[in-house]
Amino acid sequence: MLKQRTMIIDHFRKFGCEIRAQAFDVAHPQTGAPVRMTNLVISFDPTAQERVVLACHYDTRPFPDRDRVRPRGPFIGANDGASGVALFMEMAHHMKTIRPRYGVDFVMFDGEELVYRDFDKYFYGSEYFARWYRDNPPEYKYVCGVVADMVADKNLNLFIEKNSWKMAPKVTQSLWVTARNMQVKEFIYRQKYEVRDDHLAMNQIAGIPTTDIIDFDYPYWHTTRDTARSCSASSLSKVGRVLLQWLTEVPIELGEK
Ligand SMILES: [Zn+2]
Repeated sequence: MLKQRTMIIDHFRKFGCEIRAQAFDVAHPQTGAPVRMTNLVISFDPTAQERVVLACHYDTRPFPDRDRVRPRGPFIGANDGASGVALFMEMAHHMKTIRPRYGVDFVMFDGEELVYRDFDKYFYGSEYFARWYRDNPPEYKYVCGVVADMVADKNLNLFIEKNSWKMAPKVTQSLWVTARNMQVKEFIYRQKYEVRDDHLAMNQIAGIPTTDIIDFDYPYWHTTRDTARSCSASSLSKVGRVLLQWLTEVPIELGEK
């Protein structure tokens, strides 16, 4: 995790963006000992007062507990977690060539799934971030947000996630319409799964209308086969192109609340 954090920070430094670390401690779900968590906030056009947040998680769960053969084997989380990180790392290369309507923050959450047993607590990073935003409002305001999670499946199917539709209909609609206009057919304008993910804290605690792009049809979810082999650069690039285009056309009324 430490190595990954260093790699991410070194990468984004090259693009002249502002990088902040948001550190906090949680109790380890098995021992109760403090575990240091660190969210990363990477800001493009940092002085813009109205901003869009694109978020992912950069931790992953300790074990591939849905693996039938090796539920205590190694877990890479190439799609579940790392795909969002890879997406934002690549998008950074293109931020200078587009004109986003708002300032843009890439936020990478820690502690999305420090989960050993299914009833352990999820979403430490996003909940911390959302409470920080609610309780210590910064000078700028987040107009809306997008969470990207599991966006690199070779067979990419991005249905509209049900909680996103309920809590952030305009953001969700605008993103899927952008994809439709670009003829990126992996974004399917139909609701399918209801997923609890980092967007819940963003909507319910921070009050930032936030949608979740998530491919919940991924066959290697929480197994040892969630590796780069099961992922596709072409899938990632489709999501990246849609997001870059969408950043230039975020509906203006979202900023008017
Ligand atoms: Zn997961």
